[in-house]
Amino acid sequence: MQYKTHFAGGALITLAVLHHTEYVSPEQVVPFAVATLIGSVAPDIDHKNSFISNRLKPFGFLVRRTTTHRGATHSPLIIGLFSLLLFSGLKVTEFSSYAYPIAFGFFIGAISHVLLDMLNPQGVPLLFPIPKAKRFRIAHFRTGGLVERVIFVALVIVTIQFLLNAL
Ligand SMILES: [Zn+2]
Repeated sequence: MQYKTHFAGGALITLAVLHHTEYVSPEQVVPFAVATLIGSVAPDIDHKNSFISNRLKPFGFLVRRTTTHRGATHSPLIIGLFSLLLFSGLKVTEFSSYAYPIAFGFFIGAISHVLLDMLNPQGVPLLFPIPKAKRFRIAHFRTGGLVERVIFVALVIVTIQFLLNAL
């Protein structure tokens, strides 16, 4: 899926979670929303010309040295471990009060990315790092194809509707 579709998915999931104030308090909204949007495109750091790797070139280079596209960075286990690491790392800094909304936002944003990528024929390695584990997909829609464009528009419409209802 293209980055704009992932951003649209990230925006929708942000609003869906913010609907439940028990998960994210008003002062946590901004770090949570930013982290969710970053998380929604972060797994494609493993792709040379992705939106995120073009902005974090040295980091993308290092990631691509250790994994293939749609490998480790698209694994729920690795995403969960990275989010925990993010949480623990922020906890010991002056930003400790943002540790939860940032780590939680990043986690669900990245998971929304994995779910959307499951619509492509390449699928995602849900059971990584189990060797030779199969890749999971729920559809065979081509990246950037007509169906993806329809999904993008649908996500934007639902997100706007969510936003209007919240006002
Ligand atoms: Zn991806």
